[in-house]
Order: sequence, then structure tokens, then C-alpha cells
Amino acid sequence: MVAPADATPPLPLPQRIAMFSLHTSPLAPLGGRETGGMNVYVLEVARGLAALNVAVDVFTRRTSAAEPDVTEFAPGARLVQVTAGPVERLEKEDLLPFVEAFAEGVEAFRSREGLRYEAIYSHYWLSVASGDRLAARWRVPHVAMFHTLGDVKLRARASESERPERLKAERRLVHALDRIVAATEHERQLLRQIFRVDAHRIAVIPLGVDLSIFTPRPQAEARARLGLDPARRFVLVVGRIEPLKGLDILIRAVGELQPRISVDLLVIGGDERAAAEIARLEAIAAEVGATAAVRFLGPKPHDTLADWYAAADVVAVPSFYESFGLVAVEAMACGTPVVASRVGGLASTVVDGRTGYLVPWRCPEPFAERIELLLRNEPLRRALGAAGVERMRAYDWSEVASRVGVALAALVEEYQRGAAS
Ligand code: UDP
Repeated sequence: MVAPADATPPLPLPQRIAMFSLHTSPLAPLGGRETGGMNVYVLEVARGLAALNVAVDVFTRRTSAAEPDVTEFAPGARLVQVTAGPVERLEKEDLLPFVEAFAEGVEAFRSREGLRYEAIYSHYWLSVASGDRLAARWRVPHVAMFHTLGDVKLRARASESERPERLKAERRLVHALDRIVAATEHERQLLRQIFRVDAHRIAVIPLGVDLSIFTPRPQAEARARLGLDPARRFVLVVGRIEPLKGLDILIRAVGELQPRISVDLLVIGGDERAAAEIARLEAIAAEVGATAAVRFLGPKPHDTLADWYAAADVVAVPSFYESFGLVAVEAMACGTPVVASRVGGLASTVVDGRTGYLVPWRCPEPFAERIELLLRNEPLRRALGAAGVERMRAYDWSEVASRVGVALAALVEEYQRGAAS
């Protein structure tokens, strides 16, 4: 292709950036209370940027003395443990007092190593609060992805209350950042409407899926590998186990289906800290006569999930809110239709009637109805699955990383121009 005569050459990507992931490590096992989509994002984007020759240091709070100070997890991408507060796992709600110490720890590492970062990319409000302290000091632009925002969760009725200190900090931080990365156009609108963030300070860059892992494969073979009955019908849910994920709705839907069609619900995710929520869900299963049909399988390693998605007849995502919803994208990439709530990112990744179904109401009946439709009509199920595979070809992590790289390059240039004038 010949470039038009007036085409400006692409800006050089930054040489080195710092990513902040204060409350959770991108290398932690997934499916725990605070290990899900954000961890996958930080890992994949850091890897992808490093592959484009941007050196990336990801900083996380140290929770165990056994972890090495620095781990190179891909050529050019390192995880750095920063001691801030007690060296043990703490709930994210208790981490605010250590935000300052975290920033100091990052700065101590930077100064010891004699490094210069050209930008900070922070994840979740605690990281943003830390990055905020360093961006001015380092005179570099600060970019962030919030993943969830307290005010958005409250509006989605995805949580009954949020801590005032979080709400207050987020309301300030959204205006202190040089750029906010939103996962969808919908999230951009929320940032505009709720927080009045200027449009030009928001970049929409969707998340991705690893298309080398999440590939379609024959259902029978996947079931044989997993030891699943080839003749049964399975609905699968994958994710952190918390009320936000709406599993209660789905369990009630499965209860409703039982007399009409026999189906098992497989639930992947939830570490030992999910015990109370699992007990609550098991009580609901008992209440609706679905105890035998609901199986909690615990968390599974990310790279083993493709077989589970392919083995399932339907993947359900009944969440009250998802800023993006990686599980739906992974399932579609494996060729399995998704029945999801019409919320957040799910409304833009799942195409209603084409790659699955979007359910606008948070109640069991419509979920049961859509799931039954797919379970009773194999050609329809397969057609929706195949359309999902097609659609997901556009969602690749390397593309996401390159878009993040371009956004960072533009911002660094803009920032330096501003500093020089
Ligand atoms: N996941 C996993 N193993 C588990 C549970 C979850 O690998 O046992 C991964 C899942 O594949 C997905 C991520 O965790 O990539 C969850 O991301 P999603 O965006 O669906 O939800 P979030 O955690 O952001 O609420």
C-alpha cells in the first residue's frame, strides 16, 4: 500500500513505562475474590507492549515474602514487588492507608535502578491514587483504566453501598488524569454523564482474547478430555464468585428449567474466600430444587478454560454489571453461544440473536427461556457459536496492546510539547 503524500509517520512508542497494579498481581491465580479480568488485562497488555519494544515494569503490592523482588514474565516485561503495609494478603477495602507507601516504594525502585519512565498506566482506583502522587513528581502523563467505579456500581445496583473514601477519591482522580481508557463506548458515556469528564480525555480501547488459546474445538473431544458426560446438557459460568456476578439469578433459572429439560450448571471460579457466597448460592439451589444440578468446580487455570467453554452447550454471564466481560469474549472465541445480561461491555461484545442472547432484565425467567431455546435447537446453537468465532477474530490482545501503545505515544508527545511551550 502506498502511503498518501501527506501521511505523517507514526509517533515513536515510549521506551519504558510503569504500570501500577497495586491491589492484585497479574501473575496471581485467577478466579479468586480479586483476581479476574483486570489481572488478565495487565498481563496481556504488558506482554504485548513489551513485544513492541516498550519496556514495561508492572508494580504490585507485596503480599508474601517468598516472591522475588523482580520477575521478568516476558522479554522486556517485569513484575516488581513493592513493600507497602503488612506483607500479607489484605482486603482491597483496607489498602487505602498504604497508597502513599506504595508510591514511595516505586520511586525507591526507580531511583535505585536509575530508570526513567515516560508514562504511568494505572489500574483500579487504588493504583490511580498512587500513580497520581508520582506522575507530577516524574513529570510524565498519567493514564488509567478504572475497571470498576464506585458510582457506576451504585447506579447499576451492582452494590448496595460503596465506601465514601473510594467515591470521593474517584470523583477527584477522574479529573486529575491525562487520559482514561474506557473499555467501551458505553463506559465513555458513563464517564461523561456521571463525572463530566471531558470527551477528549477518554480513549475507548476494548479488551481482547488470546486467540491462540481460545479456539473452537469439537464438543465431544473437549468433554472426553474433561471427563464430562457426552449426553448431558451443560450451562457454564466462569468468574469471580461475588453477588455482582448475578449467579443467584442463574441458579433460579436452572431451577425453573429442571422440570422441563434436564441441565447441569457448572460454576468455575471462587477461592476459599468465596465460601460464604457459595453457601448462600447453595441455599438458593436447595430452595429451587436444583441442588443436584449445580456444581461448584473451584477456580481453573486460565489456559485450561478453552476445553470447558467448548464442552458447554451455553455459557451464561448473568452479571449485574461488567465493564467489559472477558468470559463472554473467550466463550464466543471457542464457538459457544453466550446468554448474558444486557449490561456494560456485554452489550457491545455479544450480538443479540447472532452470537448469543442479551437479557435486559435481572430475573430468572428470560434467562431460562433463552437457555432452553439453545438447548432444544442444536442447529441454532451451532450457528450462533460459529458467528461468535467469526466476530471474535477482531478481538486480539496484540491489537489491544498496539492501540494502547499508540495512545501512550500520542500522550507523551502532547505532554512534552506542553512542557516545552
Ligand atoms: N478466570 C480464570 N479462571 C477462573 C476464573 C476466571 O482464568 O477460575 C479468568 C477468565 O478466563 C477471565 C477473567 O478471569 O479472563 C475474568 O474476567 P471477566 O472480565 O469476565 O470478569 P472480572 O473479573 O473482570 O469481573
